[in-house]
Amino acid sequence: MNDIQLQNIRAEFPILQEKIYNKELIYFDNGATTQKPKCVIDRITFGYEHLNANIHRGVHYLSQKATEAHEDARTVVANFLGAKTREEIIFTRGTTEAINLIAFSFGEAFCTEGDEVIVSELEHHANIVPWQMLCERKKMKLRVIPINENGELDVDAYKSLLNEKTKIVAIAHVSNVLGTINPVKEIIQIAHQQNVPVLVDGAQAVPHIKVDVVELDADFYVFSGHKIYGPTGIGALYGKAKWLNQIPPYQGGGEMIATVSFEKTTYNELPFKFEAGTPDYIGSTALAEALKYVEMIGLDQIAEHEHSLLTYCTERLINEIEGIRIIGTAKEKSAVISFLVGNIHPYDIGMLLDKLGIAVRTGHHCAQPLIDSLGIPGTVRASFALYNTKSEIDVFVDALKKVVGMLG
Ligand code: PMP
Repeated sequence: MNDIQLQNIRAEFPILQEKIYNKELIYFDNGATTQKPKCVIDRITFGYEHLNANIHRGVHYLSQKATEAHEDARTVVANFLGAKTREEIIFTRGTTEAINLIAFSFGEAFCTEGDEVIVSELEHHANIVPWQMLCERKKMKLRVIPINENGELDVDAYKSLLNEKTKIVAIAHVSNVLGTINPVKEIIQIAHQQNVPVLVDGAQAVPHIKVDVVELDADFYVFSGHKIYGPTGIGALYGKAKWLNQIPPYQGGGEMIATVSFEKTTYNELPFKFEAGTPDYIGSTALAEALKYVEMIGLDQIAEHEHSLLTYCTERLINEIEGIRIIGTAKEKSAVISFLVGNIHPYDIGMLLDKLGIAVRTGHHCAQPLIDSLGIPGTVRASFALYNTKSEIDVFVDALKKVVGMLG
């Protein structure tokens, strides 16, 4: 990506013009949420100004148009993930809701006492707690794949955890703390040798890596719109039809039914069986806009740009910040840098960087078991997106030097 392209991209994100404490905003908290381009913001306004009516039920013009837009958005998501059919895409509130849906519905259909679920040590709470709740409900056991000192999954340990009691494996594609890109294709192949399905938490992957669910052979793949330049409150679950057809609905209500009587209710077909109530049809269409925007720029180009930021920033930090410790040094790594400096508490670094207009995240990043296993109080995390620049990294590194000087 050349400088002109990058400046053009930045100009499409209105918030990047904001001043924070009278300083240029440097937004390095993209792992938590990304900023929105004008086309996404405009699509939300357009929806409410021109296409707002409740979908699926109406015979009138606006309802039909809004329904079409929502269903077109489903097709965009299906194509984006490489799904075979659009019915395999369920709109959810995001990654968290999608994982809860599968943990509940898959658990109801396929799990009983004594069964096991495998997750890994580097999961976000969203890919731990729903499985723990399932384990409690069904008296099952949660098994955990350990990681090595670089923050990479121990694949041999994973193989030895898989057994005839394993009902499902749930694994992050990319770690939100360490940046590790997990070998999900291999993880899936290994599970499938024992007929065990795999859910992939793609929250930190889809904004950075081209994903093809068919190529991966993922059984379930989930992500959040807000982490890929889309709106909050909308995300998607991809599930192979063969699984989605076998598991019960997650929530009951309007839309997900075929017929209702007080004696018996029958359920709607895919994907509606899993979309109870009025869906976020404004959010879905704005999400589709975000995905089209990403595709227009090209994930290969985005990945290359972010990787150059990752390399540049990592080198500068290692060479110039005394006492820095990078947490997460996997060979395959996404543009996330978690770090600690000496004994300084991450929160103090984050607070002072904020005063200089630099937004980073500090703490356990919703991955407390991982942070505990590393024996650290948390990290400072800088996570990059397509609109970040090397000159922002220069300002950041200089600011960090100042902050460390003050606190050290
Ligand atoms: N998984 C991972 C790897 C994440 O980074 C996040 C968000 N930080 C989530 C799940 C949860 O996403 P959401 O809050 O959008 O549901």
